[in-house]
Amino acid sequence: MILGHDWAVDLLLQSLARDRLAHAYLFAGPPGIGKTSLALYLARALNCTDPGPRPCGSCASCRKIGQGLHPDVRVLDESEGEGKTAAGEPSEPASRRKPGIKISQVRELQTQAVLSPYEGRRRVYVLCDFQQANVEAANCLLKTLEEPPGSVVLILTALQAEGLLPTIVSRCQVLNLRPLPVRQVRDALRSYWGVEEPKASLLAGLSGGRIGWAIRASRDESLLSNREKYLVALEQAARLNLTERISLAQQLSRDPSALPEVLDLWREWWRDLLLARSGNPGALINVDRAQAIMADAQRYTLHAIQSYLRAIERASQQMDQNVSPGLAMEVLLLKLPRVSTEVSQV
Ligand SMILES: [Zn+2]
Repeated sequence: MILGHDWAVDLLLQSLARDRLAHAYLFAGPPGIGKTSLALYLARALNCTDPGPRPCGSCASCRKIGQGLHPDVRVLDESEGEGKTAAGEPSEPASRRKPGIKISQVRELQTQAVLSPYEGRRRVYVLCDFQQANVEAANCLLKTLEEPPGSVVLILTALQAEGLLPTIVSRCQVLNLRPLPVRQVRDALRSYWGVEEPKASLLAGLSGGRIGWAIRASRDESLLSNREKYLVALEQAARLNLTERISLAQQLSRDPSALPEVLDLWREWWRDLLLARSGNPGALINVDRAQAIMADAQRYTLHAIQSYLRAIERASQQMDQNVSPGLAMEVLLLKLPRVSTEVSQV
């Protein structure tokens, strides 16, 4: 089963039926949206042994792929295995700024890729979060993309095509995946994952249509409690003086692996402020905090909100480029407009 992305599923299955499948795909979209799930769906469709509509989801091949046990289907991510999950469960690595795919992994792939499939029809390699791969690994993969072995399908996943080398992107068929409608996420949480209301609606809203995130959050309480912690920190930060902000930045950057999540939450918060400030509160992500957002939005000018959103984006990019997380957080917190001095001007 795959939730949403119907157009992408149709396109892939039709290409498969006409024997027109590309040798390389790039599935792009935000974390937790289902890129790896779609890749595994295609891997199942390619290797399913059932005569009926493929993938059946229940033959030995489909089951092995779901369990990460099929010898011809490999999911490469930075930890070698996190992307391998039970059938039909959208899952992606929780943190997306871990070290990317290494050149040694690409070389190993190249050694195997020239061999015939071991038991399936096609070898499928899923290369997760390829925006994280370093230039050496990307350049090395380029050789395979230029002359792909006939029985191999490569599927790269990334946040967006723009973050990758253009030479890589031009050799892939790019499928941009969009968030699912929030209603669909809510219904899926209720029907397939047994999440009850009001939690289902809250998680669906917070997920912004990223089904994988919603499912993780329904199982892992820490996602919601961390959210609470970081949003409180953000609210307090706007009231702190400069010295206190620097110390908060240091405190937050003690756990660099949590910073991508912090920045995501803050970005969503400020995006909500922007929506509220421009008179469109119906589309808020942080639905449970609508009141605080409406109040906060009036404290900043539209311009201040927009420029802070850009500052968050910059901090995020700097961390991708290995700028010290402590430094990036300090700059970001020092730029945060002070609530007490900011007067509504719009
Ligand atoms: Zn099957």
